[in-house]
Amino acid sequence: MRRKLAAGNWKMNGTSAALTEAENLAKSYTSPDIDLLICPPATLLSRLSDALSDSPIATGGQDCHAATSGAHTGDVSAEMLKDSGATYVILGHSERRDTYDEESEDVRAKARTAMENGLTAVVCLGESLAQREANNTLDIIGGQLAGSVPDGATGETLVIAYEPVWAIGTGLVPTLEQIAEVHGFIRERLIRRFGEETGNAIRILYGGSVKASNATEIFSVADVDGALVGGASLKASDFSGIIDALEKA
Ligand code: PEP
Repeated sequence: MRRKLAAGNWKMNGTSAALTEAENLAKSYTSPDIDLLICPPATLLSRLSDALSDSPIATGGQDCHAATSGAHTGDVSAEMLKDSGATYVILGHSERRDTYDEESEDVRAKARTAMENGLTAVVCLGESLAQREANNTLDIIGGQLAGSVPDGATGETLVIAYEPVWAIGTGLVPTLEQIAEVHGFIRERLIRRFGEETGNAIRILYGGSVKASNATEIFSVADVDGALVGGASLKASDFSGIIDALEKA
């Protein structure tokens, strides 16, 4: 049985005051039936990890460098994330693939370093609107999956997030059939590559304009093991609605 995961990606949002939102969330979920994760900006990671140390809510980074240390001004290593209390790291988010030209081979190198440093890599995959309209979605997802995920991944070290680029922050959401098709395809590819047991143990999140109002129907889709949530994870009251829906799914 895969344990469901509700993950919040705060992106480049939040200063000290945002810690209170996470603390409020922690008060509501002292022993949840699902895994909870918040990935704040790097500047808040250490303080957030401390603030949540008595809570089951995990923390994670939003990126890491593929190298363990060195002359990489402005970057953060997997070891540094771990040292700041993180247990997860988001990698290959479409905003990074787009803005920093991150290719799948870069994501794979980062994921390998993350795993070696004891972090669970949340590897993001997603097609653009043009790619979907050209009926290339499964080819794109298959290529990103094969290229971005390192060998030796397990259900403990890897989470996949399917995030159609055109659904992120837009309010647009794929149909349930479209979500089911891509999640089923990812599951089949994971099983083909890692075998039945490991392929079935790796969680697959959906991400892209998830809100409390659409969460229940998205979580009813087979092979949706939770959500990666951007905008709606910034306020405890919004994120709670999604968490509650996932707990009931
Ligand atoms: C994201 O960026 O990972 C995301 C899913 O954003 P949003 O929920 O705001 O669409």
